[in-house]
Amino acid sequence: MSYFTELGLAEPILRALGAKGYSDPTPIQRQSIPALMEGRDLLGIAQTGTGKTAAFSLPSLHRLAADPKPLKSASCRMLVLSPTRELAAQIADNMKGYAKFLKLHVTCVFGGVPVGKQARALTQGTDILVATPGRLLDLIDQRALTLRNVEIFVLDEADQMMDLGFIQPLTRVAALLPKDRQSLFFSATMPQAIADLGKRFINNPVRVEVAPQSTTAERVEQYVTMINQAEKQALLTISLRAGLADQSIDRALVFTRTKHGADRVVRHLAAAGVKAAAIHGNKSQAQRTAALEGFRQGNTPILVATDIAARGIDVSGVSHVFNFEIPNVPEQYVHRIGRTARAGADGVAVSYVAPDEKPYLRDIERLTKVKLEPQALPEDFLKQAASLPAAKRVEPAAQQPRGGGRRDRGRDGGRGRPQGERRDRPQGERRDRPHGDRPHGDRPQGERPQGDRRERAEGEARPQRSFRPRGGANGVGAHAGKVRRTGRG
Ligand code: AMP
Repeated sequence: MSYFTELGLAEPILRALGAKGYSDPTPIQRQSIPALMEGRDLLGIAQTGTGKTAAFSLPSLHRLAADPKPLKSASCRMLVLSPTRELAAQIADNMKGYAKFLKLHVTCVFGGVPVGKQARALTQGTDILVATPGRLLDLIDQRALTLRNVEIFVLDEADQMMDLGFIQPLTRVAALLPKDRQSLFFSATMPQAIADLGKRFINNPVRVEVAPQSTTAERVEQYVTMINQAEKQALLTISLRAGLADQSIDRALVFTRTKHGADRVVRHLAAAGVKAAAIHGNKSQAQRTAALEGFRQGNTPILVATDIAARGIDVSGVSHVFNFEIPNVPEQYVHRIGRTARAGADGVAVSYVAPDEKPYLRDIERLTKVKLEPQALPEDFLKQAASLPAAKRVEPAAQQPRGGGRRDRGRDGGRGRPQGERRDRPQGERRDRPHGDRPHGDRPQGERPQGDRRERAEGEARPQRSFRPRGGANGVGAHAGKVRRTGRG
């Protein structure tokens, strides 16, 4: 008798688990399922990859199935909120699998695709709705959905929601949910601001915590190369080309800070004959799905991603993670390199650190308690770099964001920020604008702001321009009002 059987999960759920080949629970499932079956609220500190989706899905499906109700128009009984489209789609797919032998409808809605079809799909109602916050509120505003009948509410990746500036939409959602409900709140990290957000949703929760973040990092070989920003591209191209040729690299994820940075890396790699695709918030849903599929299948061995786009993506067999820029939030580093050490496998993480990124490296080493091993440049680096071809030029028009509708204009609301680069430099060439690539947008005191010209990291808030007061103790309220225009949610 398996642990899942002992818990008393409904037979159709056990059958679905059998079909998936799950025999033992993961630690988060062991810790949370019994309390959730009793209807308790839950505060979970766990990352994607821990089996979190099944942890909240299995008991919820069990409870919904035990109390069958006819569908109500424009309504759902369970709402799962996720910060990104990819994660929402992944959760919905998993839930459909677990609910395969139950008579429960699972529907998924997210931004970046036309809202009309999603609104029509909700006319008859659904049992379980997985949604990104922006699109959820769009549907509510269009009267295509009410949250009046929600019995179970799951807020996933709360820290990522905060990073993306979803605080205001979440506050609205909190006000629309019925008081009498079960709430589950998950986050990979639990700083005070997230704990405070949690208090708005959960009541006397069971608290579960799995795999403290630094432990993932211990299974990954971690290297650091100190290098000027302008030379990073050449080093990446040379390393990937060599690694793919001698098969030491199977599949690599490259993280860049900005969306345009990701595109730029892909162009340079393509020019050097390295097959790569980019995934970030300016890509259409179809492009993102195609990039991910190509990467999963191994046709495109290199995926270049921003943190937000990559968050939660479950791809096995990633042998290497390259940090083209290292993150300024050390936890983010742990998330990134965790992509390579899934399911107990070991991986390699290589970070390129420019002189002004050194403080972030110190923070990362402090959090992970791992000292990154220095890796020198290849001996003939300069010679190899000089022989690399220049990337193809991009016409600005080719980089315009997709769509044109108000809700598809990206985080800057389509206010005319130049989208393309004027010229792509050859791979080793220096940039003439000295701080354009400065990571994390930090500006030395006294330096003139670059305003719209500087590329913001994906998810980074646009500087406040109106005279509206900033909200929130940590300025998170500054995102207010823009959030729902993003294509992401
Ligand atoms: P998640 O954290 O929900 O994204 O899950 C990570 C991966 O673990 C997914 O591919 C799941 O299908 C898988 N998984 C979840 N629970 C189990 C389990 N009890 N046994 C084996 N695999 C699991």
